[in-house]
Amino acid sequence: MARYTGPVCRLCRREGTKLFLKGTKCLSDKCPIEKRNFAPGQHGQSRKAKIVGYGLQLREKQKAKRIYFTLESQFRAYYEKASKHTGVTGEFLIQQLERRLDNVAFRLGFAISRRQARQIVRHGHVEVNGRKVNIPSFQVGVGDTIAIRENAKKLVVVEAARDYAAQNHTPTWLQIDFENLTGKVVSLPKREEVSLPVNEQLIVELYSK
Ligand code: SF4
Repeated sequence: MARYTGPVCRLCRREGTKLFLKGTKCLSDKCPIEKRNFAPGQHGQSRKAKIVGYGLQLREKQKAKRIYFTLESQFRAYYEKASKHTGVTGEFLIQQLERRLDNVAFRLGFAISRRQARQIVRHGHVEVNGRKVNIPSFQVGVGDTIAIRENAKKLVVVEAARDYAAQNHTPTWLQIDFENLTGKVVSLPKREEVSLPVNEQLIVELYSK
């Protein structure tokens, strides 16, 4: 599956807000948003039109896509599935994104960013219910146990991420054992349990036109 490989801080500057794509750098004064909070490119500083209507809906969709590192076709497929689901479409859309294995690995503290988590998954360092899974978009379910594989537990990036995550907020829908680098999905994430700077209702309005 193709993926965005360009500079990620540029994505935050385009959205005009921190998307937290680079782990610890995002919390430091090295974050470009702290110094240059305007759109990238030659005219980024001069063009500051107020965004309304369609533009606002588009920006919310782009933000969510960028936070979870998904491409348009994949993101759209999540929406299509959510729209057929009974219940609140926006909430189910976010739930699918949260249940991605790379996101869960990030939430469990196996990596300091979703991008790093994606790489750890792709390199085969993560297992689900005791079996190696190297598909970042793999959907985890309630009762699944996710763990760092034995031979990857000593990786410097994994150890650093664990120490960082241990000091931070733990999602209530996941049970985490930092010592053994394992975690369990205890329930499906509800919207209020997901910290995400996105208004998913605007995304639903955009796609349902
Ligand atoms: Fe975004 Fe983090 Fe880069 Fe800041 S450091 S611009 S929050 S990715």
